[in-house]
Amino acid sequence: MNYQYWHPKMETLPRADLEAWQLARLKDTAAYALRTPFYKERLTRAGIREADDIKSLEDLKRIPFTTKHDLRDAFPYGMLSVPRDEVIRLHASSGTTGTPTTIYFNREDIRRWSGFVARCIYGTGCNKSDVFQNMITYGLFTGGLGFHAGGEEVGMLVIPSGAGNTTRQFKLMQDFGTTVVHATPSFLLHVESRMKEEGVSRDSLRLKRAFAGAEPYSEDTRRRIEELLGIDVYNSYGLSEMNGPGVAFECQAKNGLHLWEDGYIAEIIDPETLEPVPEGETGELVLTILCREATPILRYRTRDISGFSTGPCPCGRTHRRIRRITGRTDDMLIINGVNLFPSQIEEVIMGIKEAGNNYLIVVEKDGSLDRLTVKTEIGPDIFMDDSRPLNALREKIRKTLQASITINPKVELHEKGALPVSEGKAKRVQDNRPKEV
Ligand code: ADP
Ligand code: ZN
Repeated sequence: MNYQYWHPKMETLPRADLEAWQLARLKDTAAYALRTPFYKERLTRAGIREADDIKSLEDLKRIPFTTKHDLRDAFPYGMLSVPRDEVIRLHASSGTTGTPTTIYFNREDIRRWSGFVARCIYGTGCNKSDVFQNMITYGLFTGGLGFHAGGEEVGMLVIPSGAGNTTRQFKLMQDFGTTVVHATPSFLLHVESRMKEEGVSRDSLRLKRAFAGAEPYSEDTRRRIEELLGIDVYNSYGLSEMNGPGVAFECQAKNGLHLWEDGYIAEIIDPETLEPVPEGETGELVLTILCREATPILRYRTRDISGFSTGPCPCGRTHRRIRRITGRTDDMLIINGVNLFPSQIEEVIMGIKEAGNNYLIVVEKDGSLDRLTVKTEIGPDIFMDDSRPLNALREKIRKTLQASITINPKVELHEKGALPVSEGKAKRVQDNRPKEV
């Protein structure tokens, strides 16, 4: 494989040089952080009164973690570290788990961010001959403008189609010969489901690749999208607190996501003890941004669950890789005392080829017990009036789920297109249990 680098020197920088770079950037970031009331107080208490009090990367560990809660408390301007009139843009998180948080960018911050996204895109084999349809929400959400700017930086023709409306998406793909798209994995599955119904043949499209991210998905989902659409799918990870897309991305080896260590310092901690986990083990990802002046954030607890991949990558990049994020620490469901992540259910359903592309997890109270129902759409080769294959599929999903999650769920099959579709981040879980007070 001929791996291409957007920034060859930086992407292959020897570890020692990369760490020296990180230390210099960490000091710069701390200098900006000290201008905010929030970090001035935090850092001073940790014995860091000026940037030069940071002497090595180990000193990062003296700084307390920053949480989403801290960012909300600082709303709207408490984390702003440059004069207001130097800020040229703001973004906010999607608010999946509560009040959104705001991030500010100055001109250089935007330029650096676009560079990181361009690096991700180029590393999958794209170049300026590509036509890129950005099928994700524009606006406060960082996925739209973030990928848009990165695509332009690479020199691709960027179509700012936004999310939703499959009819229009297909028309754009056909009219302009789209070769690469960006979307959530759930929207990509929906696009595939709609193709036949809208009379779009695969041969009328020039699609080669997709960037899929903004929500967790399993390797089986990737494989399903790749096989059904006949494209290469690359995992894209980011969060608005850390700019948005461009934090970590798969290269063409597709064996973990390179986390750009010239822009971020990554740690993996045990969310209970807050201590680092042994190298390679799973835990919560903690990130420090090194590439943004206007809103510095140090040791941010992402709540995302991952771990470092071990061993070098065949692509030759020296930046460490993280494994596919399996979910958030707060996604975990407890069903009759058994811990369950929605991703475990997704993996099973996506691995059963007779099952359709959409599903929903419903949890209810049945007396004193919890009841788990997994609603699944049927695939294109099965029909609702044909009871034998229907029963066989229901039983297959139930048995495979039970073996994998040790809970016996109720499985309901639904007609294709019957379950709610989301254009952005999918809402896969409906927890109808009364909230404990
Ligand atoms: P919100 O926290 O409100 O969803 P963002 O829009 O900033 O805010 O989304 C960032 C979050 O989306 C991440 O913290 C992570 O939980 C999830 N996410 C983004 N990309 C991926 C990915 N490739 N795999 C799994 N989860 C992802
Ligand atoms: Zn690689």
